[in-house]
Amino acid sequence: MDRRKFLKASVLEAAGLAVAPAMLAQEVRAGVIVPGEVYTDGKRANVSADVDKHLKVSGYVKEPSHRIPVVAEADVVVAGGGAAGVAAAVCAARQGASVILVEKANFLGGLWTGGLVLPVLATHGKGKVAAWDKATGGFCSEMCDTLLANGWATNPLNPLAEPEAAKYLLEKTLADAGVRILYNSTVAGVVMSGNRIDCVLVDCNTGRIALRCKVAVDATGDGLLFSFAGDPYEARRYHMSTSYRLAGVSSDASFCMRTPVPQMRYSTYGTREAVDGLDIFAVSQTQREHRLAVWEKIEQKKKEPGFEDIFLMELAPVTGVRVTRVLESLHNVTLEESMEWTEFDDVVGMSGMCDPFTYKGRRIEKKDRPIWQIPYRSLLPRETRNLLVAGRCFGYDQGITWDAREISTCMVTGQAAGTAAAMAAASGCAASEIDVSYLQGRLRAASVRLEF
Ligand SMILES: Cc1cc2nc3c(=O)[nH]c(=O)nc-3n(C[C@H](O)[C@H](O)[C@H](O)COP(=O)(O)OP(=O)(O)OC[C@H]3O[C@@H](n4cnc5c(N)ncnc54)[C@H](O)[C@@H]3O)c2cc1C
Repeated sequence: MDRRKFLKASVLEAAGLAVAPAMLAQEVRAGVIVPGEVYTDGKRANVSADVDKHLKVSGYVKEPSHRIPVVAEADVVVAGGGAAGVAAAVCAARQGASVILVEKANFLGGLWTGGLVLPVLATHGKGKVAAWDKATGGFCSEMCDTLLANGWATNPLNPLAEPEAAKYLLEKTLADAGVRILYNSTVAGVVMSGNRIDCVLVDCNTGRIALRCKVAVDATGDGLLFSFAGDPYEARRYHMSTSYRLAGVSSDASFCMRTPVPQMRYSTYGTREAVDGLDIFAVSQTQREHRLAVWEKIEQKKKEPGFEDIFLMELAPVTGVRVTRVLESLHNVTLEESMEWTEFDDVVGMSGMCDPFTYKGRRIEKKDRPIWQIPYRSLLPRETRNLLVAGRCFGYDQGITWDAREISTCMVTGQAAGTAAAMAAASGCAASEIDVSYLQGRLRAASVRLEF
């Protein structure tokens, strides 16, 4: 297209945006770069509009329309195979649902295993009865107990797992539950039917495919499904860190921690500067800086007596972004609720604590941080009827970010979301309309702790 035609198209485009966006969408030819705002239908933000908020967008290009093959159907499609996603998929399947799990990496565990974020935190806190009480049970305890019983993890309170062992255990548990897995497959969109997700779109080695589902679970960590579906969320910034494993560490070293493997230690490198985890340029630049800094730090360390034989075994293959999108759910748990022993009628799990912090001007030590309840509503988006959210992107306020996204809490929300998803798929009702007392009964039967 020459410059005059291009400009004309741009002017028409701008005029059309103001009057009839739906018409405009058809008029823009595939492959033409159109300057200006990314088109949205005014109700549901799409992925492009989302990117627009976080990156400098100089225009947009319309993708040629094409037919996407529907290759599989399942009662429940779980997006993301981290701690939350595996818990959701296994627990949905154990309730009798057919389940497909879609994971963009080629292993399970997400940040836990691939991010080398090894200790499972937030399992305990101050109880009403016991001074130091276990908040979790169910799937989380099953994973932790198995890791410990086999010598694949150290530290019974907050098991610090060997990552390959955790990957094996998650894989075996998923396989035993009969969950179908799609690795190297990236969730790239959704097809909606009114307020329901009809299909989850996935990019894989044959191009784009569609998976039909009755219910979907968003366990991508980044809230991709609820973002694609157009549900409201908050985008948060956090500092990024990169964990790594060191081999050949024979002496005790304060800069790194023990793992279950002799002479293997792990450590984390990062700065306190907050990064927008949705800005892929910023994330990539930070990842580059971390990789260079860790290598150079270890080269320096080798020059110290006692550390001559250390070497970098592995820098985490999963980038250490802590939080990005957090769902604006039907009820986001607040810091106050978590501190004041709030009891929810729709409780579906409990969380422990992680680190000391300041609350109402008072320093709260680890031993004084109460365990807290997670309500079912915090897993439910405001608009999409057949979607549940689990893991670090479920609905909680900024003040409890530190506890709410720990691995154990991710598994707890995953178990609740998966169990509820199976119920919603079986009954055909919205996720918000299931019988919550029945859900609670099923969770209790699976040893999930619900009471203080
Ligand atoms: C540096 C760092 C240190 C931490 N330290 C600790 C700690 O010591 N203890 C602790 O308990 N917690 C810690 N955390 C927090 C904890 O690790 C995470 O919050 C938790 O593991 C998140 O689990 P998740 O399943 O919600 O998300 P994730 O682990 O992020 O899993 C999401 C999964 O979805 C997949 N995915 C994403 N997008 C797509 C897509 N489009 N299509 C398909 N799949 C997709 C990802 O590949 C991943 O497997 C730390 C986090 C970081 C970053």
